[in-house]
Amino acid sequence: MRLVLLGPPGAGKGTQARLLTAKFDVAHISAGDLLRKAVADGSELGRTAKPIMAKGALVPDGVVIEIIEERLRRPDCAGGYILDGFPRTLRQAEALSEVLQLLHAPLDCVISVEAPEEDLVRRLAGRRICGVCGSMFHIDTKPPVRIGICDNCGDRLLQRDDDREDTIRHRLRVYREQTELLIAYYETLGLLRRIDGHGTIDQIAQRIHQAFGDE
Ligand code: AMP
Repeated sequence: MRLVLLGPPGAGKGTQARLLTAKFDVAHISAGDLLRKAVADGSELGRTAKPIMAKGALVPDGVVIEIIEERLRRPDCAGGYILDGFPRTLRQAEALSEVLQLLHAPLDCVISVEAPEEDLVRRLAGRRICGVCGSMFHIDTKPPVRIGICDNCGDRLLQRDDDREDTIRHRLRVYREQTELLIAYYETLGLLRRIDGHGTIDQIAQRIHQAFGDE
């Protein structure tokens, strides 16, 4: 399975990618996670990316394409992968199809998860993440037992810098201006399946499975 998950910030791509990865035993390639790791490691790339990510803008295409290309060539991707948060621009989509052509491994499917903007803002603004184990919570829909404390490891929960409301609105604008056009791009290639991203994690997961004919 070689799959791209497309959709605005807050559509639940990361959560669905993790579920699919576990179910189909494939690699999860999250462009955002790879960039956040570079920031945490303090690498040169991370230092370039940090202020751009904090603003909710896109890291330059060349940088992201290089990271993803390197990741796609690793052995664990031979059995398939879910690409989450890449591509986000037309140039990235074209670079992806070039590298996949070289690897003789075209995409099977692109799933576009779609949801109303107010749902997206609510989901992102309420999201809290454990800085130690990465467990995710939501102040309304999945609150931790003790406010601000991870149920899993007892560490402090944090809000991502780019999950503040003004930055969220900017990220959604960037999505509409630079990423949304990829829906038409993949539709033309006959790869696109649209999924309603409204509802619970389980409901969305079920729609994705139905799109695969796996109910
Ligand atoms: P995400 O975790 O997918 O919401 O990504 C967080 C941030 O990482 C984005 O707001 C961008 O700043 C950066 N980022 C992630 N993926 C890409 C990409 N494909 N191209 C450029 N920037 C990206």
